[in-house]
Amino acid sequence: MDELALLTDLHRDAARQGPGSDAATRQALALSGLTGRKGLRIADIGCGTGASTLVLAADLDATITAVDFLPDFLSELTLRAQAAGLSGRITCQVAAMEQLDFQDASLDAIWSEGAIYNIGFRTGLRAWRRFLRPGGVLAVSDLTWLTAERPAELDAYWTAVYPEVATAGTKIAQLEAEGYTPLGYLPLSGACWLENYYRPMQARFDAFLARNPGPDAQAIVAADRQEIALYERFSDFVSYGFYIARKTGD
Ligand code: SAM
Repeated sequence: MDELALLTDLHRDAARQGPGSDAATRQALALSGLTGRKGLRIADIGCGTGASTLVLAADLDATITAVDFLPDFLSELTLRAQAAGLSGRITCQVAAMEQLDFQDASLDAIWSEGAIYNIGFRTGLRAWRRFLRPGGVLAVSDLTWLTAERPAELDAYWTAVYPEVATAGTKIAQLEAEGYTPLGYLPLSGACWLENYYRPMQARFDAFLARNPGPDAQAIVAADRQEIALYERFSDFVSYGFYIARKTGD
């Protein structure tokens, strides 16, 4: 199995593939101004198995295109949508976030939880803007420093993994520079990381290693264990920030 197949195997059965919570999605929705509007068209980019997609479909009058480049995650999302009675509102699309083919100015909102880092925060802001209608909403969560200063060990680790990690102030300034008007920011809680993401992942490690004997699976688990240990020590300094913004002018 190649690395992508192993990552799919580790994460496919999970409710979410990154830190987050239904409550945080709903907090972001409350800041977005989308609630109560009719006939919305929304894309959920890097949706994984659809934790946020299902909340959006349940709470909004919307059709949602759920985009991910891993078909197995979208198959899971399809099953979850069926079980929740929400299939009629969700269309799955296997696509790379670097090559989306929505029409210009066709979307009321772009949602993306814990996924924009794959294209890069600023690149994603720039590339996706044209798909939004004037005044359309962008809601993205991305790795964020919670404080102006932080332990060197933590800084070195995340800066190497994701060079665009920055404070909320920096990221909000980037949103403004890329043609968005910020509507709100919220940092994800520790429970979003530990209870909803890391603990369920840790519970899958043994079965994953049993299914996938060999150094590649061991290396994935070792890297995840390192990341979890670091988060447990330094959760005061780093989280995902959820950024909600509106496309400015045109
Ligand atoms: N939004 C989901 C959640 O919060 O549970 C998933 C977050 S997970 C950290 C990132 C997701 O982005 C994965 O589902 C992964 O398959 C997807 N992804 C990574 N690179 C991608 C790309 N280039 N194009 C589309 N999807 C991508």
